[in-house]
Amino acid sequence: MGTPVSRRGHGITLFACPSLIKVKVPPRYPHMIPRVRQQTFAAGTLTLTSLVGVSIDGSEAFRELAASVAQLLQRDFEALGGSLRTLAPSDSAEGPVLRLVEDRTVPHSEGYLCDVSQSGVIVRARGAAGLFYGTRTVLVAYGSIGTLGYGSIVDEPRYVWRGAHLDVARHYYPVQFVKRFIDLLALHKMNVFHWHLTEDQGWRIQIDSFPKLTEVSAWRGPGSEPYGGYYTKDEVSEVVRYASERFITVVPEIEMPGHAVAALAAYPELSCTGGPFEVETRWGIFDDVYCVGQDHTLDFLGRVIDEVLELFPGPYFHIGGDECPKERWRNCPACQARMKSEGLSTEEELQSWFVRRTSRYLEARGKRLVGWDEILEGGLAAGATVMSWRGTSAGVRAAQMGHDVVMSPTSHCYLDYKQTSDDEEPGAWFAPALELRTVYGYEPTPTELTPEQGAHVLGVQANIWTELMPTESQVEYMAFPRLCALSEVAWSGPERDFDGFLERLVSHEKLLDRLGVGYRGSKLAQPVRPSAEEKARFLRAQAERSARGGSEVVAYS
Ligand SMILES: [Zn+2]
Repeated sequence: MGTPVSRRGHGITLFACPSLIKVKVPPRYPHMIPRVRQQTFAAGTLTLTSLVGVSIDGSEAFRELAASVAQLLQRDFEALGGSLRTLAPSDSAEGPVLRLVEDRTVPHSEGYLCDVSQSGVIVRARGAAGLFYGTRTVLVAYGSIGTLGYGSIVDEPRYVWRGAHLDVARHYYPVQFVKRFIDLLALHKMNVFHWHLTEDQGWRIQIDSFPKLTEVSAWRGPGSEPYGGYYTKDEVSEVVRYASERFITVVPEIEMPGHAVAALAAYPELSCTGGPFEVETRWGIFDDVYCVGQDHTLDFLGRVIDEVLELFPGPYFHIGGDECPKERWRNCPACQARMKSEGLSTEEELQSWFVRRTSRYLEARGKRLVGWDEILEGGLAAGATVMSWRGTSAGVRAAQMGHDVVMSPTSHCYLDYKQTSDDEEPGAWFAPALELRTVYGYEPTPTELTPEQGAHVLGVQANIWTELMPTESQVEYMAFPRLCALSEVAWSGPERDFDGFLERLVSHEKLLDRLGVGYRGSKLAQPVRPSAEEKARFLRAQAERSARGGSEVVAYS
């Protein structure tokens, strides 16, 4: 979890000034989102457009890593209309310089120190990640208010998991947008991209052993122009590489044993009934799930996992594990036989058996299972990580049991929920509103945990379910500025100051404007509101499920 930097007692150096001149007190923090942990000010500010170039000091290994960080920054400066050339150590610069310096004394691998003076900016870090975040601070300042106050910054993240999830199954977004989303995460010092790749309504990743997953499962709807798309293995690798250059780990999610109708449409023999099925065009929870009683279904899932793991070098694999109705298993001879042979008395235990088995399968390949909090039901394999989404109590329970936890409760982290309770506000109209202030106020480490249990809280994650986000601009509208608030929850200390945040957001939005982000409140925003017909269709599907005796009438996840 790193060494916390105490912000307590940090002084703001107010400079002496002639008494008749009214001096604006420097802001307590720079106009920076996420807020830096500690900053001291001296008199004066550096105009960042005056930076003439970037230089690197350190060991050979460090210089190599720093060069790629510098290159990214140079490209980002160019995207904002600026430039920053690379300076050789011998160059004598005629102006302020950005210096990237190796400093083994910086305690946190993602932390950095930053000194700002008239001669430029010095970013010190022990490695490339810290350096990267230091350069993000320079970039955010450059693109928003354009200056950094003289003085120094000591900064490091609070949590190791600073995540955002994107559902590309309910709606499909091209690689170009996925990369833009990753850029925006990196800009906010977030480091996990949870890529939700499969659903009832679509399968989005090429699997060579099962070509029908992309020929059939990736497309929905009748006619000659069905809706859909998928990512080839080359595209997936490109995204993973792109993310890793920006210090973001990509966590793939392949839903099992529920939310599987798209796969069953291509391979109905993986179900309990044999089908036939069509890729779902409705939203919701569906009774047809993988038949875990049959060995060939388990073989299928194993081979899919193996192919997916080849593309994702990160330590985590997300199996979903949520919202799996047990109706089919209850009436399936194969599932019932499995329960008998494994000594399981309920279908819930059958799910738990399946999750444990998958967890062992992943462990044998050096990977860790992550799942939504339903995976806790019926007991969970040691080493599995729980994503607490149905409130926070599952997260508390999991941490108390010694599991790692990522907090992403609907109450604070579901960015598909409306941003205000206004009727006209786009978003999940059937769910409570999730206001910016609420996201900002979230405390991810539950107070009922002991410090030892609290250490299992890896961090926090925003979830972006996209049933109501048919366009890329809708994703941006729903995500921002709430993701800005969440980035501060994830990176900065536990102290909160919403008014201060709003003040900083004003300048931060200038940067988002320059990047063309269509956040809520932006002139560029192009929000989509669900039509009356869509609303009616949704309510009908929910009522149907309820009439069939669906165990949970969850609007959707
Ligand atoms: Zn079955």
